[in-house]
Amino acid sequence: RVVVVGSANLDLVVTTPQLPKPGETVLGDDFRTVPGGKGANQAVAAARAGADCDFVGAVGADDFGGLLRDNLVAAGIDVRGLRTVDGPSGVALIAVDGAAENFIVVAPGANAALTALDDADRTAVAAADVLLLQLEVPPSAVTQAAGWARDGGTTVVLNAAPARPLPEELLDRVDVLVVNEHEAAVVAGVFTDEPAALLDALVALVPRAVLTLGARGAAYADRHGTRIEVPAPKVDAVDTTAAGDAFTGALAVALAERGGLCADTAPAVLRWACAAGAACAQRPGASTALPERLTIDALYVA
Ligand code: ADP
Repeated sequence: RVVVVGSANLDLVVTTPQLPKPGETVLGDDFRTVPGGKGANQAVAAARAGADCDFVGAVGADDFGGLLRDNLVAAGIDVRGLRTVDGPSGVALIAVDGAAENFIVVAPGANAALTALDDADRTAVAAADVLLLQLEVPPSAVTQAAGWARDGGTTVVLNAAPARPLPEELLDRVDVLVVNEHEAAVVAGVFTDEPAALLDALVALVPRAVLTLGARGAAYADRHGTRIEVPAPKVDAVDTTAAGDAFTGALAVALAERGGLCADTAPAVLRWACAAGAACAQRPGASTALPERLTIDALYVA
């Protein structure tokens, strides 16, 4: 079982031939709404990858909140931990031009209200195999959930996105840190493109670290000196949005199934998570492109 404590946003996406400059109005063409937020995306990724999944988060008392809730329920996710709070749901205003250049403004809305969790959340976290966290809800809730997980023997996986330096009280509770190269540099405060150097810096902070490397795959390091790198399956990538969410959700599922990440399990776990990321990159869209287990298995090379 995987519990996600995190964000849910509605992405309001408009495509336009040209992005506006400040003060300018341009005419867009297509408009669509897509459920998003790293927390909800990773919960959907985990559910599609085959896990029983709980989502703990907050949406607003507006129509968007209903859409976000329905999307999680449709993915088979247990939403007893999803609050509806006063005010607007979290939204991301996204404009994309013909060259796939974008601008994005995120208004956290209800996500900012998830400051403290309750006893029911504690029970859900303690009963899970894996707690999956990101940094789009208040740090107080993230740290609280991580503490309960640690006490209950639940593996804590933190995807440190959006990237920021992490307080010690959170680092102390993380078992597995999952980051891309940019996030790794910010978290570790080390600015290098050398994956090995990034991993060294990360395992000084947490027991285990997973570094995603885009089309190159992913790498793993731990404090026992294990260093493993696996390639991503070769695919025709059309849109890598949410590939990181697909990767992280699948990684959490593989950890829950294999009872943790170590030198023995890391190669298969990373390859399977890479298959999920690659499958997502093959399809246009964000959360709509998150792959089902059969699709992941088809791309998995043991
Ligand atoms: P993020 O999306 O968070 O920046 P990455 O770009 O590192 O993260 O992608 C996450 C994972 O998705 C990679 O580790 C890889 O497994 C997969 N992936 C991303 N882009 C590609 C690609 N072009 N081809 C194959 N796999 C990809």
